[in-house]
Amino acid sequence: MGVLDADPVSLYPRAMTTSPSRASRARLGGQVSQGWDAGAIELILFDLDDTLCDYGGARELRLRTAFGTALATISLGDRPPPSLDDLIAASIAIQPHGAEHFPDLLGRYGVSATAAAEAVRWYRTNPFHGLELFPDAVTTLETLRSQAPDRPIGLVTNGPAETQRAKIALLELGSLLDFAVVSGEFGVDKPDPAIFAEALRLGGATAASTLFVGDSPVHDIAGAKAAGMRVIWMNRTGAAWALGDPGPDATVGSLTETVGDDPNNCAWL
Ligand SMILES: [Mg+2]
Repeated sequence: MGVLDADPVSLYPRAMTTSPSRASRARLGGQVSQGWDAGAIELILFDLDDTLCDYGGARELRLRTAFGTALATISLGDRPPPSLDDLIAASIAIQPHGAEHFPDLLGRYGVSATAAAEAVRWYRTNPFHGLELFPDAVTTLETLRSQAPDRPIGLVTNGPAETQRAKIALLELGSLLDFAVVSGEFGVDKPDPAIFAEALRLGGATAASTLFVGDSPVHDIAGAKAAGMRVIWMNRTGAAWALGDPGPDATVGSLTETVGDDPNNCAWL
């Protein structure tokens, strides 16, 4: 039986699987305020990359390290040094996640094939270099848990199973979450409605009583809205909403902002 033929629940580490008893005990938690429609949230779902952890920041650091080392090998003569920021931006524009394009891109700057190959090797062998949770992630998850200990908190993340599971372990998120749905395991990516439905099944909640928090307008916000959930857009960059209606139900700039000052009254529930 292939991985994707298996019951997805069996693929989840035991400690991160919501038990039926827990789901059935999910109770009305939090308080409705700040303009939310009446009706309690019974399940909270988070995206991982750039919502709970600073994937973008870590990627830039990885590129800066790999490219900085490569550029240091070229002899500039009278030329000014190339802009590392421009090189990083060009790399992300060509291929946001991979390194296949490094030799061609670095070659344009005069980097030798040997030095470019070393940049590829380093980038690939240090996939989690500099990856950290945002400073407010743990406090927010702990606050939500303390407000309603029986209300499940889950993760819905796109990416390869091995990579995303390794991140979850590295970031020590397992004890803060009840379950995680990883697209590489489940078989489809956000914004496919099926992956949101799987999260509802694991969390034992209806879409209408579920809150989704994520940064991607397409994958998270549009996807969760189409699935019938309430959504908060984690917009740390202050970007304008560009996708039209329906937009997010709320927009925040930090996880701390969403919890508010009073740990007993989450501002967004
Ligand atoms: Mg994300």
